[in-house]
Amino acid sequence: MVQEPNNTDDKFYSGFVTLIGKPNAGKSTLVNAMSGSKVAITSPRPQTTRHKIMGIKNGPEYQIVFVDTPGVKEVKDELDVFMEKIYKEESRHADIVLFVADGSAPCSEDDINAKNLLKNVVSSKTPVFLVVNKDDKTASGDYSEEYKFLADFENEFKVSAVNGSGLDELIAAIIKKLPKGPAYFPLTSSSDQTPMLFAAEIVRENLLTLIRDEIPHGIFVHTDEMREGSKPGSLYFRITIYVERNAHKGIIIGKEGKMLKKIGMRSREELENHLNRQIYIDLWVKVKEKWKERKDLLRSWGYS
Ligand code: GDP
Ligand code: MG
Repeated sequence: MVQEPNNTDDKFYSGFVTLIGKPNAGKSTLVNAMSGSKVAITSPRPQTTRHKIMGIKNGPEYQIVFVDTPGVKEVKDELDVFMEKIYKEESRHADIVLFVADGSAPCSEDDINAKNLLKNVVSSKTPVFLVVNKDDKTASGDYSEEYKFLADFENEFKVSAVNGSGLDELIAAIIKKLPKGPAYFPLTSSSDQTPMLFAAEIVRENLLTLIRDEIPHGIFVHTDEMREGSKPGSLYFRITIYVERNAHKGIIIGKEGKMLKKIGMRSREELENHLNRQIYIDLWVKVKEKWKERKDLLRSWGYS
């Protein structure tokens, strides 16, 4: 039997755990491995969700909200300045920060950059745990020691997001540090998440993962339509990826449409796993120059 958590109990603990670390350290994989459900935060601001895919782990007396952050990229325009600000504010609200490193690779400049971010955005009172990931991959070199000197860590863990080793200890340590407080999100069902936003965020995430090095700047992903699919119980999504330039459109579509197909396939699989039903995704790429400055567009997407 599933134990119903008591949200109002004064013995309930809840908090935000933000993951920071260089790209590829395994932050997103860790969030997936540690959480039961995944939600994209909903926000009345344009594209806030791109900075926050969250995972939630509920226990009888606690709720952990994991906040996954993308790599820090250079600030290029107004919207990014705005997003950067939100991102920093968000990290400041973290109750615990996990600094994620790749134990199978030496400490690099990317790690130092991530560490510097840590110093800027986290209050000195926030506990920071060092999480050295990829412990399953350290046979030919274990670099976990190198990371210990990066900052004044409260606690150190060696884990593998892939085989799950060390994660129980990490979660236990997180729970010990959670502040008292009621749950932030519904504890039982995922019914009031917004699948349209969630689907768009999943597409965006896959797009960024697959086109890592040539990420076209200024992407907006929007679910235009969601309805029952032709098979009973299935769901149909029509999703558009908006880009600012024709060249970006080409990159996303790829040779013979292969990239777009791949993005669509991965997103479909992920959505099927999360929503537990058959999914169809009809994926489009459209060029909308300067969409960030188009108030009419933003409004039509629900961000006014
Ligand atoms: P992020 O950029 O920090 O979010 O990193 P991702 O979660 O996207 O992971 C980057 C890559 O590392 C992916 O190919 C993952 O499959 C892989 N990865 C993540 N965690 C582990 C781990 O514990 N062991 C191994 N062997 N690979 C991992
Ligand atoms: Mg990631």
